[in-house]
Amino acid sequence: MRIAIVGAGMAGLSCADALSAIGCGVTVFDKARGPGGRMSTRRIDTPLGQATFDHGAQYFTARAPGFRAQVDAWEKCGVVSPWPLPASDAWIGTPGMNAIIKAMAGERDVRWNSPVDRIERDGEQRGGEQRDEGWRLRAGTVWFTGFDAVVLAVPAEQALPFLSLHDFAMAREVMLARSQPCWTAMFAFADRVPGAIDMLRDAGPIGWAARNAAKPGRSGVEGWVVQARADWSTRHLEYSVGEIAALLLDELAAALGIDLPELIAASAHRWRYAMSAGLGLGALWNAESGLGVCGDWLLGPRVECAWLSGQELARQILDVPPDVAQGPRAG
Ligand SMILES: Cc1cc2nc3c(=O)[nH]c(=O)nc-3n(C[C@H](O)[C@H](O)[C@H](O)COP(=O)(O)OP(=O)(O)OC[C@H]3O[C@@H](n4cnc5c(N)ncnc54)[C@H](O)[C@@H]3O)c2cc1C
Repeated sequence: MRIAIVGAGMAGLSCADALSAIGCGVTVFDKARGPGGRMSTRRIDTPLGQATFDHGAQYFTARAPGFRAQVDAWEKCGVVSPWPLPASDAWIGTPGMNAIIKAMAGERDVRWNSPVDRIERDGEQRGGEQRDEGWRLRAGTVWFTGFDAVVLAVPAEQALPFLSLHDFAMAREVMLARSQPCWTAMFAFADRVPGAIDMLRDAGPIGWAARNAAKPGRSGVEGWVVQARADWSTRHLEYSVGEIAALLLDELAAALGIDLPELIAASAHRWRYAMSAGLGLGALWNAESGLGVCGDWLLGPRVECAWLSGQELARQILDVPPDVAQGPRAG
């Protein structure tokens, strides 16, 4: 089987892993310049050198046995470490959150800078008969042809335009998913922020803030990630990056109750589809047309859910019974 996966985040690559393991030919397309998705790590140049920020997912937990085994395999490869500060069972990617996605993508045929804007059934008229040649998709200006199946591994809102053209039943399910936004600010300081606090939660409009270098495997410039609560992010959705950075810097100072050191760099990122409540469906697959959907939003807004959803879709595509456990793959 030749399968095209749209989206090289945790869900898409988890699905790619499971399908490749039994010999499917998988090509993954992602619109981004490099690996990360919502597990991205941003690098910002400052007068003191480069500062790094995990500006999407901050950490993750592994509770399902299959995902725990996968995390153990990643730990052996050195791409994850435990980080007990936020929770006794929390894990992070090392040296950045995107290290996991980088390692997974390194094993696969991933086409970066490839925004997919069209998927369609391919075919031609031969001898008075319409021959079905499978799926084709357009990424950038290039058409890729001859796929037996297409997997959409993108947030619900981004899957919907494709599904509404090709699978109305799935589109109806997907319409029920609603993601909430998250504004994330990134600040680099000339000196260490005074005080013993490396992380805080739920302080005014701040949902989460952390000193990036407090995480294992990070070093260098003092950088803080500040993530706003969903209601605040919704109210400020169309503000500019500069406005958001200024507002959240004041909120960080107020929450820590200190004068912050000299600011040497600041930025912000708007995650328009950061978190979805989760539909509890696992994955969606139409075996007749060869169209499938996976992503965290089918289960819950967590890294583990994205991985599980990708595995679940692969299981459905391969028609494997639910109780057949899939082994972990090294990163
Ligand atoms: C701010 C924030 C904080 C979070 N904190 C945590 C946390 O602490 N713990 C936790 O477990 N989870 C957290 N999460 C959630 C976690 O990041 C997600 O659950 C998980 O990364 C989702 O993976 P995914 O593969 O489903 O989607 P994504 O990571 O969004 O991957 C989708 C990919 O599809 C690509 N794409 C989209 N449209 C197209 C297109 N048309 N063509 C090609 N490519 C396309 C995107 O570039 C992206 O790489 C957080 C998320 C955010 C945003």
